[in-house]
Amino acid sequence: MQDDLIPRRGFSHVPGRIHGLVDLAYNLWWSWHPEARILFKQINPHAWKESIHNPVKMLQEIPERFLERVAGNPEYLRRYDISMFRFHRYMTTKNGWFSEAHSSSRSLTIAYFSAEYGLHHSLPLYAGGLGFLAGDHLKECSDLGLPLVAVGFMYSEGYLHQHILPDGWQDNYWEHLDRDAAPVARVMDADGRQLVVRVPHISPPIHVAVWRVDVGKVPLYLLDTDIPENEPAARAISSRLYTGDRERRLVQEVVLGIGGQKVLNTLGINFSAVHLNEGHPAFAQLERIRERVERGLSFPVALDQVRGTAVFTTHTPVPAGNDLFSPSLMEKYFSDYYPALGIDRETFLELGRTPGDPSGCFNMAAFALRLTAFHNAVSQRHGSVSRKMWQVLWPGSPEGTVPIDAITNGVHIPTWLNPRMERLYSQYLSPVCPHWQQELDNPAIWGMIDEIPDRELWLLHTWLKAKLFNRIRERKRLRWASHHKAPINLVADGLMLSPSVLTIGFARRFSSYKRADLIFHDVARLKRILTNKWWPVQIVFAGKAHPDDTEGKQILQRIYQHAVSPDFEGRIAFVEDYGEQTAQYLVHGVDVWLNNPLPPMEACGTSGMKAALNGVLNCSIRDGWWLEGYNGRNGWAFGGDAWSPERDAMDAAELYTLLEKEIIPLFYSGSLDGIPHGWVQMMKESIKSIAPIFSSRRMVKEYTDRYYPSLLSCAESGYEQCPI
Ligand SMILES: *Cc1c(COP(=O)(O)O)cnc(C)c1O
Repeated sequence: MQDDLIPRRGFSHVPGRIHGLVDLAYNLWWSWHPEARILFKQINPHAWKESIHNPVKMLQEIPERFLERVAGNPEYLRRYDISMFRFHRYMTTKNGWFSEAHSSSRSLTIAYFSAEYGLHHSLPLYAGGLGFLAGDHLKECSDLGLPLVAVGFMYSEGYLHQHILPDGWQDNYWEHLDRDAAPVARVMDADGRQLVVRVPHISPPIHVAVWRVDVGKVPLYLLDTDIPENEPAARAISSRLYTGDRERRLVQEVVLGIGGQKVLNTLGINFSAVHLNEGHPAFAQLERIRERVERGLSFPVALDQVRGTAVFTTHTPVPAGNDLFSPSLMEKYFSDYYPALGIDRETFLELGRTPGDPSGCFNMAAFALRLTAFHNAVSQRHGSVSRKMWQVLWPGSPEGTVPIDAITNGVHIPTWLNPRMERLYSQYLSPVCPHWQQELDNPAIWGMIDEIPDRELWLLHTWLKAKLFNRIRERKRLRWASHHKAPINLVADGLMLSPSVLTIGFARRFSSYKRADLIFHDVARLKRILTNKWWPVQIVFAGKAHPDDTEGKQILQRIYQHAVSPDFEGRIAFVEDYGEQTAQYLVHGVDVWLNNPLPPMEACGTSGMKAALNGVLNCSIRDGWWLEGYNGRNGWAFGGDAWSPERDAMDAAELYTLLEKEIIPLFYSGSLDGIPHGWVQMMKESIKSIAPIFSSRRMVKEYTDRYYPSLLSCAESGYEQCPI
């Protein structure tokens, strides 16, 4: 920790008695501890909301009198003292799971690289699932005490907002991130200026400034190119996530990988292994090689050392999903770089070639696979898909022996489990296991979910559902006031949702493979289902199309037009601007979570896990994690695997039948006490069978148990014992 390096401005009005709030605000620990969150909210709920739950901004802006009011309130101070005690104990305690399970020798620190991080809505540095996976990974490493530092980008124009025009077309605007009011801190150099590092051997030159976010015990360093040291073109490199422009994309990846590695080194951070989350940051491995070559090692020896101490996680099930760069583009940026590695152009380009690809393009996934000794896919199915896809890199190996493992993704339970639900579970789990939060991946403890009376679970679920609808309506009210939306659009936005109606949620990015409009395949049949007088059904959609994805925007528009249409009687809603906060409400509050991508395109999927934790039932195509998660009693599975031109029709028909024959009757089968006991039974089965297995607790432990000993022995043996 280098807290002394980071000045914090604008907090002199915070009274000394509660000045610890400033420390708390700068560590995202508060975001997954409800008792800490409430401390900010209680200062002034409106200011908290107004700041979009950003405690740094709120504390900077709130008038002193509000702070003095709580600083004089004994009840508040009691809560404050308890939370601060827990925070300090969390930050200083060393004996987490990691030090017990892997205590045999010295520990090494791992550097985790990712192009995006979904941590909290006050710090929007993400586009979708990959980012939340990275964010959950960091939080879990912190909880488990795994030594880790992370590197990512500060996207200054970072966040894409969605606004739906009256005709259903998606309009976008970018939110400018006010760095000085975000929960991030400048990293300073010895002269008291913000640290700026030049990306080595890249011309034209690029500089990055460094920021830090504390995620519990894990520091996340963010690179920022929007600084005066850079030419205007270079300043824009880190402005937005995933631009469509090839060249800009390459430069981003150069900055993230090579610049990121250089920053960690400049900071003197001692780490011996790296974890690459997807191919974007893979150039970090080049820079690790270059450092060694500079110290006198030959390229092949340096490559072996770097390979033996690196893990690459692939998330892409189709070749086209990986980044490809033409040889001439590579040449443009790397002509100074490969001489510094001691290799020629051909050897360099060969590192990223895919055998059989006549374009000779540099493929970031092929490159990452060659430069790491340990590779994994993100679900069992994705493992076999990846082994097949990448067999070309291991000519002569049968498909089954291609060395790509599978570690199925999981979600961070304290982040995604609603705090009220957590309290209810705790009531029944803690008598058998007082510290059950320490054993989130233990299925035996979760078995106690059966002890919760049906009525209690159902009433809380209903409460969360009402909360979701209230939030939708409140947002619409504000929109109506500010944008004077026509009443018909408010209907489409969810004004008519009813808490007593079976509610299906569908929220995810609008990429075409996710088939958001599959359920509209037979409009007449869907209409009969939704507008049934006795057993009605409603669907809440949310999600953004990539701004360059016209097809995705068209799908969205068609859905929106159905939502507007009186034919569906207000039973379809489209919630604007899907993001972390909306996701929280949806995964807590709908009844069924629908997922119907085109197999095998969903490498894993994680939103269904978040839903399951909260008692929301999954109805999903057989793909990704659901092939492992579905046990016949904890939700519904549909769709086959064989490709056919009738694929959409067949999948849609199966979905309608499931709804008509199983899902709807079960939901409306309430007994005289008003509780649908069969449904609640299934909710319990879903919670207890999914929460422990599809938690990031299980996932991070699996990464650690599987790779850590090998990484350690490679590094500690002076690279004598490294995998070939
Ligand atoms: C969890 C999450 C995702 C990823 O969900 P998938 O099921 O993988 O599509 C995307 N966006 C947000 C806001 C999320 O919370």
